[in-house]
Amino acid sequence: MGAPAVVWDSELLGYDLGGEHPFNPVRLELTIRLANALGVLDGVPLLRPEQAPEAELERVHTHEYLEAVKQAPMVGWDLEHGLGTTDNPVFDQMHSASALVVGSTLLAAEQLASGSVTRAVSIAGGLHHAMRDHAAGFCVYNDCAVAISWLLDNGFDRIAYVDTDVHHGDGVQAAFYDDPRVLTISLHQSPLTLWPGTGAATEIGAGSAQGYAVNVPLPPGTGDDGWLRAFHAVVPSLLAEFRPQVLVTQCGVDSHREDPLADLALTVDGHRTIYRELRGLAEAHADGRWLAMGGGGYQLVRVVPRSWTHLIATMLDRDVAPDTRLPASWVDPLRANAPSIQLPTTMSDGGTPEFQRWGGELGDSVDRAIRETRRAVFPLHGLDPDDPRD
Ligand SMILES: [Zn+2]
Repeated sequence: MGAPAVVWDSELLGYDLGGEHPFNPVRLELTIRLANALGVLDGVPLLRPEQAPEAELERVHTHEYLEAVKQAPMVGWDLEHGLGTTDNPVFDQMHSASALVVGSTLLAAEQLASGSVTRAVSIAGGLHHAMRDHAAGFCVYNDCAVAISWLLDNGFDRIAYVDTDVHHGDGVQAAFYDDPRVLTISLHQSPLTLWPGTGAATEIGAGSAQGYAVNVPLPPGTGDDGWLRAFHAVVPSLLAEFRPQVLVTQCGVDSHREDPLADLALTVDGHRTIYRELRGLAEAHADGRWLAMGGGGYQLVRVVPRSWTHLIATMLDRDVAPDTRLPASWVDPLRANAPSIQLPTTMSDGGTPEFQRWGGELGDSVDRAIRETRRAVFPLHGLDPDDPRD
């Protein structure tokens, strides 16, 4: 089995929403630079993606929407398709740049399906909000959903999708809401307090797929310990029961305490712990197969590069110790170009994620969220929602 596949090409920086838009591709550039500076990518060939063909995009998007995206730079806006809003401004090359992001995640999926690797990462992917016929939440095409759909046609019929972005993974949930071959699990800030306002525990899937959409809405302020407590109370049991053939994860890092767009309070150390947990779950329950994507994350310099370097390192089994100092070759150019930014010095925020396992109690608002989610879906999988051993 080959080393994990890492998909990257600087062409992916062309997905640029421009101006002061928070979704700034510099976060990807800084991530790859940091991973390189720390030696994480030494000897790892970077796989170059191509634009996803339209037939693949149309797995989850309408032909009409694709045409609208292609026309948008000429027209300026198309509100019916979510194009030209503050969140989703129109930019030149919108179609081709978006299709390249999908191509990145699709290439990672193809590598997995070929059997040549068991892990693959598309750090530019994770555009989980894009809907069938409209753009949403900075996302034009939904690379996550396209890749899952492709895997379903290429040898897999049980796929688990775990979404750790601070926002609800609504586009992916919608794409497979009535498909019991795909278990979607999203942990996110409560929809009562954050866009897109969906992702309540009561959203559980439809028809024969009831129980196959799982939502864990967490109260604002939830930190590493509460997040990990909720994760452990919900995710491992469901994966053990579902027995996926592939674990697909959207690894947005806007759950960080410094993220400007949301109100959870995780640290880079919490993110690192999440990736190690996901790796363990892929090994335990998904034959080791793990396809990871990036996602949200808007503290562009201080947070995203460190968290996603931890993600890439974890996938490569080259875990970076938290107290590792940031190399001068990464820090110095930033200091010169952006002297006002106070840079971190290590790969840690000094967080010490040490959660206590949920034992069935109803202690605080995180525990109540855990109980609500378990009661909504566990019985549909033959699990006891009130028994912490399940
Ligand atoms: Zn997000």
